[in-house]
Amino acid sequence: MKAFGPIPADFVADPQQMLLIGGQRVDILADQAGDTPLFLYDSAMLTARAAEWRAAFPPEVQLHYAMKANPFAPLLAHMAFIVDGFDVASGGEMAAALAAGVAAEHISFAGPGKRERELEAAIAAGVTLNVESAGEAERALAISANLGMQAKLAVRVNPGFDLKGSGMKMGGGAKPFGVDAAMVPDLVREILAAGADWRGFHIFAGSQALGAEAIADTQAQTMALAADLASDIGEAPPLVNLGGGLGVPYFSGDSAVDIRLVGARLADQLAARPRILRGSRFAMELGRWLVAEAGIYVTRIVDRKTSHGDIFLVTDGGLHHQLAASGNFGTVIRRNYPIAVAGKFGAEPQEVVSVVGCLCTPLDRLGDQVHLPTADVGDLIVLFQAGAYGASASPAQFLGQGAASEYLV
Ligand SMILES: *Cc1c(COP(=O)(O)O)cnc(C)c1O
Repeated sequence: MKAFGPIPADFVADPQQMLLIGGQRVDILADQAGDTPLFLYDSAMLTARAAEWRAAFPPEVQLHYAMKANPFAPLLAHMAFIVDGFDVASGGEMAAALAAGVAAEHISFAGPGKRERELEAAIAAGVTLNVESAGEAERALAISANLGMQAKLAVRVNPGFDLKGSGMKMGGGAKPFGVDAAMVPDLVREILAAGADWRGFHIFAGSQALGAEAIADTQAQTMALAADLASDIGEAPPLVNLGGGLGVPYFSGDSAVDIRLVGARLADQLAARPRILRGSRFAMELGRWLVAEAGIYVTRIVDRKTSHGDIFLVTDGGLHHQLAASGNFGTVIRRNYPIAVAGKFGAEPQEVVSVVGCLCTPLDRLGDQVHLPTADVGDLIVLFQAGAYGASASPAQFLGQGAASEYLV
């Protein structure tokens, strides 16, 4: 038997032990959808998450949504009402954010390898470009001169530190992201001299960290770095995007980030910030922390079999929709995501089973030797923390399977 991650505490079942999402039975939602697998996102949970963040963080820090975590259009439209800005990482995401009703002035566009047409579209729309290199800044300035429009440029800084304990490190050493801190002052001076609208710094040191102290320490380093750079430049950054990094508990032994601690530490840091940052605004950009927990992936058992004494529940879902849960999206050792039998939610576990997908590859494993209530053909299996890096971060076309449907409830 192998443990699985903690099921988010907000999920409950009806008296028949059927899991509910947004107050509705998962089996009924699956029937209404007409087919499985499907993703279900709870809009009330999204709203509650943002409110929880706002209660923990000082009011002068803006909340941005890093939409690569989940670009489902109805979810974006919902997020547009509850966050202060969107961070996008491609021209496609920028178009989706604008279509969701987010004003261009509240969108920033980061990411390496922006193409000319993406730079042009951003400048024409009035979106802030977080430039990732001196070359990209040059291209953006040339395009803005051509268009006769002032570009809004922030500089993404590759900090000399990373976020301790983060699942994905985005700073510290040679990185394709951002401009090495030592080269930033000269670049900002060039941007200012060219007459662009310099928007400030974007400093993102890592992702998926659960340690509140480590996150707070990184924010302190980020603030100090922003102040040093600003002093060198001799100009205050209008905005310091402090990055994000707040993780979610996917695996056994993980626990949620103590965001009140992070928020309190950030409030202290802001109160004591160097003079040069007095007039600056601050933002955090969060992806998974805002949306992961609000989503579930629902798949149906199509076969139940035994091999060498082990029970396999074979589902109609798989890594083509939930690559991360299969352990093939940036994890070194495969561990089990939180998982449940939808119709026996909260019931005592009765047997050890492996839940697999329908793809003809041994990689397609959704739950490895997990202890669950008994389930049979036709029953629904649910994977949690599916609201981020699920549908859009999985190879839906693999084996000709096609995408899962998605619903915001
Ligand atoms: C991916 C990314 C994020 C979001 O990361 P999460 O771990 O989902 O919060 C934020 N900012 C940048 C620059 C990113 O690349």
